[in-house]
Amino acid sequence: MMKKFKDILKENCLFDSHAHLDLSDRLINEKLDRAKKAGVTYVINMGTKPADWIDVLNLSKNQQTSMLIFPCLGIHPEEVDAVGEAEIAELKNLVTKNHDELLMIGEIGLDYYWRQDNKEKQNKLFIAQLEIAKKYNMPVSVHVRAAYDDALAVLQEQKLSSEIILHSFTGTYNDLKIAIDRGYYLGVNGIITYSGAKELKATFKKYLGTMKDAEPRDFYKKHILFETDSPLLRPSNASTPGKENEPANTAMIFEFVKKMVRV
Ligand SMILES: [Zn+2]
Repeated sequence: MMKKFKDILKENCLFDSHAHLDLSDRLINEKLDRAKKAGVTYVINMGTKPADWIDVLNLSKNQQTSMLIFPCLGIHPEEVDAVGEAEIAELKNLVTKNHDELLMIGEIGLDYYWRQDNKEKQNKLFIAQLEIAKKYNMPVSVHVRAAYDDALAVLQEQKLSSEIILHSFTGTYNDLKIAIDRGYYLGVNGIITYSGAKELKATFKKYLGTMKDAEPRDFYKKHILFETDSPLLRPSNASTPGKENEPANTAMIFEFVKKMVRV
């Protein structure tokens, strides 16, 4: 039996709470070694579409890497047109077979930024996956973009007893308050380092206040998690090689937020 998300939160360690590792990435071991050297203990690896799922499971099963990688399976809202009942059934089947190894259902959610014409289909897919999470009492990693009102309403209706993580949180202070009051977790990533993210910085500063010498667990207690969403969302001034983002940058995102709340 693998660790559960609750157990990881109790450790005072830095972990990448939302990443997309690619099994065919020839640099994966180098990236994971860099993460370890940067002080990142675990990577929570998301599945976003049926074609990913076996790779996500295998990457954690083989564990030839030096780092513990926790697998999660889900269908991203951007995949909504490519999936139907068969794929949801396949997801149920894989979760039934592997729920001891799986850490969360994810990445799932609602994205109205690119498309508003398929809201109903997106909601149906989101709810179907929340039902799988409920059945196995599994946490969920939720993607929300330009859809906070609907996502917060659906999550309220569904009454999950497990942890809800709003990954890559970019909502307003009001959205943050609602989420925190309900006990959800919020994921902070490289977006916070961008010069254009003034409102987001102000939102987190307002919520977190002044924290001196904060450790990872001080943030987890406040339901704030760190993530990379790598290979996307490379933070500004990341020192890792190449143009992609990678789990090692969880450490610099943590340092950035720590500095931000010190004053
Ligand atoms: Zn993601």
